[in-house]
Amino acid sequence: MENLEQFTRKKDFLICVDSDGCAMDTMDIKHFRCFGPCLVEEWNLKDWETPILARWNEMNLYTMTRGINRFKGLVKMLREVHETYTEIEEIEILEDWVEKSDELSNAALQRAIGKSGSTILKKALSWSESVNAKINELSFEDKKPFEGVKEGLAFAHEYADVAIVSSANLQAVLEEWERYGLLDHVDIVLAQDTGSKAFCIQELAKKGYEKVKILMTGDALGDYEAAKKNDVFYFPICVRHEKDSWEEFKETAVGRLLDGTYGGAYQEKKIEEFKANLEKK
Ligand SMILES: [Mg+2]
Repeated sequence: MENLEQFTRKKDFLICVDSDGCAMDTMDIKHFRCFGPCLVEEWNLKDWETPILARWNEMNLYTMTRGINRFKGLVKMLREVHETYTEIEEIEILEDWVEKSDELSNAALQRAIGKSGSTILKKALSWSESVNAKINELSFEDKKPFEGVKEGLAFAHEYADVAIVSSANLQAVLEEWERYGLLDHVDIVLAQDTGSKAFCIQELAKKGYEKVKILMTGDALGDYEAAKKNDVFYFPICVRHEKDSWEEFKETAVGRLLDGTYGGAYQEKKIEEFKANLEKK
């Protein structure tokens, strides 16, 4: 697989595709089995486990905050727990870190712990590491593509260059896509180590595609914002309707991109549907 520097445009059209929760059905299982349960465990919240897990999933999967950074989600959840169920000690310290840190990652958290030695920062790191360990235990059977992804990408690839634009770990993306034969329909893989999704789209566009010939496909608000920032089209894979979305991608969206009728009414309708789907409770 080529890297960004070596990559050259082969076709006139470019279709970018997010991985987690868009092509790969990995978000539900990560939140159901890893993020939520590890939070209950780390802060000893067994007494309120059912409503806390339900709220965690709603926040991270089914509403506008879908795909939120894990530490932003954590602090939001802990603030609610603090106000509704039980005291979360030093909650303000974690809120302060999330608000001010220029990077929200385990490495940045480790550095902050080195400076302050605060208990809640240590707990947040311990939670984040247990989540990673649990995610690593998931099998390939737990991380399958949504129905229709392979057909959709194979079709798109006949007419367009296809790029994975993901904020996940590069190696994990390559393994998951390779496993299900999806890499055959992909020209370039851009992940976490390349930069933000907006940056990746911007750099790909520089390879010589017209803006009206670029489509970003994603499942979360951040994907839409990355498309908007670059002034390219957006196609949503709607949570709980992924199969239908991929069918429409193949039957309608790709064709509209190719014949120049994607912009205007169709694009507006897709964005409205996307937002309405994440506003519903
Ligand atoms: Mg996603």
